[in-house]
Amino acid sequence: QANERESMYLVSEYANTFFQNSLHKTEQGKAIGLTYYKERGFTDATIKKFNLGYSPDTWDALTSQAIRKGYQLKFLESTGLAIVKDNKQFDRFKGRVMFPIQSMSGRVLGFGGRILTNDKKAAKYLNSPESDIYHKSKVLYGIYHAKQTIAKEDNCYLVEGYTDVIQLYQSGITNVVSSSGTALTSDQIRLINRLTKNITVLFDGDAAGMRASIRGIDLILEQGMNVKVCTFPDGEDPDSFARKNTLEDIQQYLKENTQDFIRFKASILQEDTQNDPIKKAEVVRDMVASISKIPDVIKREIYVQECSRIMDISEEVLFNALAQLRGAAE
Ligand code: ATP
Ligand code: MN
Ligand code: MN
Ligand code: MN
Repeated sequence: QANERESMYLVSEYANTFFQNSLHKTEQGKAIGLTYYKERGFTDATIKKFNLGYSPDTWDALTSQAIRKGYQLKFLESTGLAIVKDNKQFDRFKGRVMFPIQSMSGRVLGFGGRILTNDKKAAKYLNSPESDIYHKSKVLYGIYHAKQTIAKEDNCYLVEGYTDVIQLYQSGITNVVSSSGTALTSDQIRLINRLTKNITVLFDGDAAGMRASIRGIDLILEQGMNVKVCTFPDGEDPDSFARKNTLEDIQQYLKENTQDFIRFKASILQEDTQNDPIKKAEVVRDMVASISKIPDVIKREIYVQECSRIMDISEEVLFNALAQLRGAAE
């Protein structure tokens, strides 16, 4: 229902303003929230640009103030900003730094909220729940700010987290988005596909980031897009890397470490296989499986040739394997 959705947008916009006021204009927000952002190296301009905020550490500051201003509880509840229990209402986000999630056209759809500590036991990020205006699988964090440069540079950097988007943006790399909090989906890739055919995946330099990159590759190839991967040193993510380096150094690193997906797959897999023939067979099968996702027959052929060269397997055998896979899929 259009009216209900409109009310949800309005209350989300109100919350966005509330969290920003709380960050910039309250003692708690300044002492805790602003300090946190500053420690992460975010400038005032960046904090403003991304509408970063702070949710006060109280039971119901946002909810009660919104109701006083005439917003209806049911929309605070349906957007997940308020939680209603036993006839009492509470704020969902308390004592967190807040990252509003905007649509392609800049409307606030939901929020991510981070705790201020690095306590490994607590869930680090809390996100708005799925709602009639916030469909996690169809949203990319940062797309509103990135869309122009994505089109202009004809490439989109894809990162894992909010802070990766923000830090790269602040460094001067502004064609960057993140799937933040969900595994990458086809709908998210489709959003990028409207702006460019080229994606460079910049996931964290850890096992989870590696797995996520591998999973993302096939989804991107399926849409006829080109995918490259740049890996970061162990324990680094684009945020931590960007903080330690100048724009020139970041660009240099990206240039030197970005590989086409087929070489990326070969290299990680080669690390694990150590010339074990059985493992090598699995690697080749895995590479062929990715190639089989490519809709364009000419591109497929080129990647088969590449795979043949890298893995030292005849093209004929690879084409047979490919035909089997594509046959099975059709
Ligand atoms: P930070 O630098 O603030 O510690 P990060 O972005 O590096 O955060 P990661 O652990 O690499 O965090 O996770 C990547 C992304 O996954 C996060 O930005 C967030 O969107 C999401 N995420 C991480 N932990 C959680 C969680 N506990 N619940 C929901 N989403 C999460
Ligand atoms: Mn990670
Ligand atoms: Mn990370
Ligand atoms: Mn990080």
